[in-house]
Amino acid sequence: MGRVEGKVALVTGGGSGLGAADSEALAAEGAIVVVTDVKQETAQAVADRIGGGAIALALDVSSEEQWQSVMAEIKAKFGRLDILVNNAGVVLNADVEDTSLEKFRWVNAIMTDGVFLGMKYAIPLMNENDGGSIINMSSTGALLGYPIFFAYSAAKGAVRSMTKSVAVMCQEKGYKIRCNSVHPGAIETPMVQTAEGRDAQPVAEGVLPPGTPGAPKDVAALVLYLASDESRFVNGAELVIDNGVTIRP
Ligand code: NAD
Repeated sequence: MGRVEGKVALVTGGGSGLGAADSEALAAEGAIVVVTDVKQETAQAVADRIGGGAIALALDVSSEEQWQSVMAEIKAKFGRLDILVNNAGVVLNADVEDTSLEKFRWVNAIMTDGVFLGMKYAIPLMNENDGGSIINMSSTGALLGYPIFFAYSAAKGAVRSMTKSVAVMCQEKGYKIRCNSVHPGAIETPMVQTAEGRDAQPVAEGVLPPGTPGAPKDVAALVLYLASDESRFVNGAELVIDNGVTIRP
């Protein structure tokens, strides 16, 4: 028996980096993974690679209509949803002075609206069966507030607080749904190599911990734990995975 055997999992931004690693880890432990991405071809490649009945769907997480149709498709195909990994994200290299309102809204449409909509539309489907586990990808930026990633840190702070609101709401309403946020430091993915912004400076510069940077599989191991029933007593938590960067004086 796999650690998430028979569960249906939806991963956003699953075509690259952490989302692809999360999808792979979940499939390896028995989940049927719905790999979604705004770039459907990348999601399809991941679904084909990980197997285990995985399917790929196009999903721009900032679109309410697309969330509704993806949930309808999952309900029709599988009749359940047990795990939601709200992972999709973008980064912008700009401090507050250099961030336009348009760019601020773009970052927040994907990471704040996207996580909000994911939870809003997943909860009813999770409640139709045995409840579930929601895992929201935040960042150490939510805890430290990186000046150069102003909009990004703002959105990740919203992800952190939305997670706690939802965890408490689910308890108060008697839902069997847990909701936790994951806060990675710099992990080697395409995101840390290129960033939209004023000087295309690599994101990793200045925020990488000493020594080897984290790998997507490091985060995937934590996501898998949160997705599985092994973490049944972990709820509303913010799990930092950064090789100690945030605790350094
Ligand atoms: P990545 O760029 O490799 O992957 C991001 C994925 O999100 C891509 O597949 C992209 O197509 C998708 N995406 C972008 N806009 C989307 C949209 N509107 N709708 C759906 N999908 C969309 O980046 P990654 O490093 O794997 O990042 C994954 C998550 O982890 C992000 O939320 C990121 O903020 C977070 N994170 C990453 C790091 C890191 O160091 N890599 C650190 C902390 C947090």
